[in-house]
Amino acid sequence: MALRTILTEKEDTLYKKSHPVTKFDTRLHNLLDDLKETLADAGGLGLAAPQIGILRRAVIVTNEKDEMIELVNPEIIFRSDEIQTGFEGCLSVPGRWGVVERPMHVKARAQDRNGNFFEMEGDDITARCICHETDHLDGHLFTELTDRLYTQKELDEMMNSKEK
Ligand SMILES: [Zn+2]
Repeated sequence: MALRTILTEKEDTLYKKSHPVTKFDTRLHNLLDDLKETLADAGGLGLAAPQIGILRRAVIVTNEKDEMIELVNPEIIFRSDEIQTGFEGCLSVPGRWGVVERPMHVKARAQDRNGNFFEMEGDDITARCICHETDHLDGHLFTELTDRLYTQKELDEMMNSKEK
């Protein structure tokens, strides 16, 4: 396993569509291991292969039990009409946050590292994470879905004023 460099929004790779995974081999397993190690080191909730420069449809998301789940070729097959509105960030857009609307509940169909299909459901922050990471596979960043970006300082100030 190896730590990989996370690309930032200046890199063209982040705006390209990723290719489906067709081989469930050691190379894929190494990619998934590297994604997990890099995500754990960076301290985020999810990471997509294009964020480390690999245009393959593979992502890691965090579920409600705080476990890292590997989703290969994920497709969102259900999005609730009920939406959630909240702050979202991205390891490729460090230090900036935006208010993004997402479905409150989603269901995804994906393959595991051996090619077996399974379904994953998520509410709230997990639903947000699944949407965010699958968007990366189509070359989309959350910054497209928000009117303005806030710095960490602005975010902290807002959180502090809410507490008072
Ligand atoms: Zn992201």
